[in-house]
Order: sequence, then structure tokens, then C-alpha cells
Amino acid sequence: MHDAHQLLGLQPGATRPQIKRAFRHLAMRWHPDRNADPHAVEHFKALRQAHDALLAALLDGESGIEPARPDAAEEEAPPARGADRAQTLEISVEEAFLGAVKDVCVRSPQPCSQCGGSGLERFSVSRLCEPCRGSGRLRSENGLVRCNACEGRGYSHTRACACCGGSGEEQAERWLQVQVPPGMTDDDELRLAGEGEPHADPAHAPGDLRLRIRLAPHALFRRDGRNLLLQRPVSALRMLIGGPLPIPHPAGPRTVLLEPGLAHPREMRVEAAGFPARGSRPAGDLIVELVPMLPQAPDARLRALIEQLELELRTEADKHFPELAQWESDWLAD
Ligand SMILES: [Zn+2]
Ligand SMILES: [Zn+2]
Repeated sequence: MHDAHQLLGLQPGATRPQIKRAFRHLAMRWHPDRNADPHAVEHFKALRQAHDALLAALLDGESGIEPARPDAAEEEAPPARGADRAQTLEISVEEAFLGAVKDVCVRSPQPCSQCGGSGLERFSVSRLCEPCRGSGRLRSENGLVRCNACEGRGYSHTRACACCGGSGEEQAERWLQVQVPPGMTDDDELRLAGEGEPHADPAHAPGDLRLRIRLAPHALFRRDGRNLLLQRPVSALRMLIGGPLPIPHPAGPRTVLLEPGLAHPREMRVEAAGFPARGSRPAGDLIVELVPMLPQAPDARLRALIEQLELELRTEADKHFPELAQWESDWLAD
């Protein structure tokens, strides 16, 4: 504990506000975003640890009976954080089912590496000011005005940094590995604590990174709420007699049992085989839209088989082709 006090430049027995103030002050100087010293990261970490340890020790001491804390009035409101950053993260339907680890690129401004954030490039010897060509004055709507670039001197020993255009900032890219849990779909949000914008005061935590999920379009699968839809062509004959039917699925192919029925386009529903449950939302259903297909290009052998089948069906036309039988009795009967 002695080290922690020393690190923050505090006397033993420092109060909570004193500890916080000392940390804030030092953190401004040592925050790695502001301090290029290679030891800054380590030192900043040590400062934060000292700060946390001292506050934790205070809390232990306070858990006894202490009627009124003298510094209660100085206590800060919940700590302010930096702004949140919002980005879109596209995932495939397969990833929505199985979860995924995605690489996410975060671009954020950081001090220009060329000028160290000053936005200025320094000359070793003064040069004639470029904008005013040494006159110290510039023509404007109001006549001649003082040149700001050289403050009217006509010469200058700096100019805007060519690397950052004088802004003092450059865009730094950071890559994050993000774990996407199964069951995320369009407009769901993943929140990564502390990966948002830094607070102006480095003693405060940065904001969060909010990743809005977007489902990439898929050639086969569609989404309706948490239901998963797909069209499946099926032999019209198979639709009549039913049987096992293999179905592609984002989590791997599966076989479902097709009920015998009409060879008309119809839907088949597999409960809870849609988008996985997430939080309070239950899993959706898998909806297979069956599209009947009639055989094409029969050869001689197949023609014979179909001929046989057709005759067989004709013998009980009332049962097998009720509409057809009705039509024929209406229009062809003697
Ligand atoms: Zn000038
Ligand atoms: Zn620069």
C-alpha cells in the first residue's frame, strides 16, 4: 500500500477525492494516447492499479459503522464515459446460427505520427511565409489583412504538417476479434465495453463499441422474424406418397419426414429449427416451401411405367382425379 501512495504522490491516509484527483492529474500526463514514452503504457497501468487498490482499501475500512463520511459531498456522480461508437457488422446466415469470431476494424483519430499532434512541421531555419509571400499581409474582401500563417511577420519557422494537413490527427486502424454468439440477427446489437471513443479526460473510461448486426443476403435462406424460410423443389410423386426428405440447413443438412399429401405447392414447418433462441426470444421455426416438380423427358421405359400408372389411376378416377372426373362427366358424357 505504501508503494501505491508513493506512486500517486499521496500521504498515507489520503481521502477518496484526494486519491481520485491525484490519479486524474497523473493520468493526463501518462495516458498512452498522449504520451509517446515507451514506458507510458506500463506506468499508466501501474497508476490505475494503485488508484484501484487505494479505493478498494478505503472501501474495506468504510464497511464498518461510520456515521457520515466527511468527503461524501465531494463524491463524484457516476463516472462520465467517452462517447459510444456505432458500427455495422455483417454476418452470414450460417454465422447467425453457429456463432462466429469476426475481425472488426475500428478507425479512430490519434496524434499524427509525423508532427506528434501539433499539426506543424518545423524548419531548422526560418523561411519566407508562403501564403503572404513575405509581406505579412493578405488581400481580402476588407482590403489587406494581417497574414495569420506568420502572424504578420512575413517569415515563418513552421508550416502545416504535410502528413496530417495541419489537423494534428491521423486515423489509426485497430483490429478487434469479436465473438458473435449464436442467434444474432438483423438489428441485434453487440456491445463491447471500453472500445468506443476515449473520454477527453483520460482518467475516465472510454465509451462502448456498439456493433449493429446485419445479415448478409443468402442465395437460399430467407428470414422472417426468427423463422428461417427456404424453397425446396420436390418430385410431385414424392409429395403424393411422402417420405424422408433431406433439407439444407445453416447448421448442417438434416432430413425431415415429408407427410403424404397433395402435389400442390405447400409449406412444411419444423418447429424450433429456425434462428436459435437468444435471451428471452425463443427459437423460430424452419419453414420449407415445397415446390412440386413433374418429371421431364421420359424415355420409353418410363413412358410405359407412366402409362401403366395412368391407366391404374383412371380406373378409380372419382377418387384420384375428382375434378377431372367431374369435368369429363359434365362435358364428355353421352
Ligand atoms: Zn505570412
Ligand atoms: Zn501531422
